[in-house]
Amino acid sequence: MTIFEGAGSSTVTTHFINGEWTAPGGATFPVTNPLNDELVADSAAGGAEEARAAVAAAAAAFPAWATLAPGARQQLFLKAADIVDRRTEELVALMAVEGGASRAFAFFQIRLSAAMLRQAAGWGYLPAGEVIRSDTPGRTATVTRKPLGVVAGFTPWNGAFYLAWRTFLLPMAFGNTTVIKPSELAPLSSGLIHAEILEEAGFPPGTFNVITHAPGDAVAISDVFFASPAVRCINFTGSDKTARILGAQAGKALKRMVLELGGFNPVILLDDADIEESIKAVTFGAFLHQGQVCMNARKVYVARSIHDDFVAGLAARVEALKIGDPLDPTVIIGPLITDAAVGQIGARVQDALDRGATLVTGGTSNGRLYSPTILTDVPADAICTTGADETFGPLLVVEAFDDLDAALRDAQNTPYGLTASIMTRDRARGMDIANRFDSGIVHVNAPTMASEAALPVGGVKDSGWGRSGYYAVEDFTEHRLTTVSSQPGRYPF
Ligand code: ADP
Repeated sequence: MTIFEGAGSSTVTTHFINGEWTAPGGATFPVTNPLNDELVADSAAGGAEEARAAVAAAAAAFPAWATLAPGARQQLFLKAADIVDRRTEELVALMAVEGGASRAFAFFQIRLSAAMLRQAAGWGYLPAGEVIRSDTPGRTATVTRKPLGVVAGFTPWNGAFYLAWRTFLLPMAFGNTTVIKPSELAPLSSGLIHAEILEEAGFPPGTFNVITHAPGDAVAISDVFFASPAVRCINFTGSDKTARILGAQAGKALKRMVLELGGFNPVILLDDADIEESIKAVTFGAFLHQGQVCMNARKVYVARSIHDDFVAGLAARVEALKIGDPLDPTVIIGPLITDAAVGQIGARVQDALDRGATLVTGGTSNGRLYSPTILTDVPADAICTTGADETFGPLLVVEAFDDLDAALRDAQNTPYGLTASIMTRDRARGMDIANRFDSGIVHVNAPTMASEAALPVGGVKDSGWGRSGYYAVEDFTEHRLTTVSSQPGRYPF
């Protein structure tokens, strides 16, 4: 029996605390399919009490997990990866009905997740520290990496399955235990399904805990995270608006935070770019998951000499993307997550058109299905082109440039600094431009979201703090200095 046994089924989900599914019967909230509002599950509406129990379980599990032999931990992660592979079709269906994810996006996430599990499995064997030379005769000094303790994670609804692994798997691989608060919009695919997988894999009780909550009730849970001495780090994926609220709390509580926030993600097409390749990379980069990923491209700056050819080819490719129910494996563009998301993109397209922009394609909606939209000739003050705020949906602005320096300045005139891409046949020129970007990631000749499990993803400026992949060791461990002296000390008094 699993919490989710196929599209359209209705079930009740509970919290997962200390290796156990809590008893059903309390308050619940509906989780619905964004395409048609059909019920996916009734999920437990938790609060402070469950959060405290989950933190206590994670704290109790920490000492044994932190010192578990690397080989034992490795077996657990490898087993979990095999379960992910085995449950692929079920996961694809879950991500479709709960989050509107296409089969292509679900596979993208599942493959990344399994790869990350298999990579993390071996990290316990990597060197855990260094010997430091001491000026004191007879003293040996070592610095070892130690896990922090309990890491509390906020997992998002968009890249739900993969980003949830990223939120708790990385801390766990370095010896921390975790409590996850999934997004209220997709609690099954951003946490509960992971609990099932880790339970089956045999992870010790308490190492991984999940508490779900109704819309509007996040604060009661996050307040417990900040108030608990055992919680040593908050790992948040979401908007910079919420991150500022949580960051203020973290300041008061003196807790470490890892933040994966939004992006503006420009693409620069130089005059020597391969146009066909650029069209493919931009279509994927801008419209994967109907533009609801922090790394989606939002604006393309195209050398004027290739602008018209690029826009014509891009429009043709984008218009061929099938829109509809993501349970249909040929559909690429599923529904947006909420009416608010549809409202935001509709308003921003209208704002640009009112100011004189040209609609190349898209701009229509059918329920929460919003057609992939390309705008050109967008005046500089239109909200969607300023880079001041993310438009979280299938809207791409394309702009011709004559002056590369001005385009680069404009592309970086944004509080965000997550990812960017540069398309050029001249790799040296591409590298020169990449070096001028103030962002966590720059790709030359690849989409803005060229993700791989091993590559450290993360932003600068308002896009966040911290990196994924093995680089997360910096975020989820701290250095312990240990000295051992074999000779009597010399003291000044
Ligand atoms: P998104 O727009 O991607 O959903 P949000 O930043 O709005 O991003 O929400 C991310 C997560 O933060 C969600 O899990 C939500 O429950 C939680 N959240 C939102 N507001 C608050 C808040 N004031 N305090 C604590 N958690 C919050």
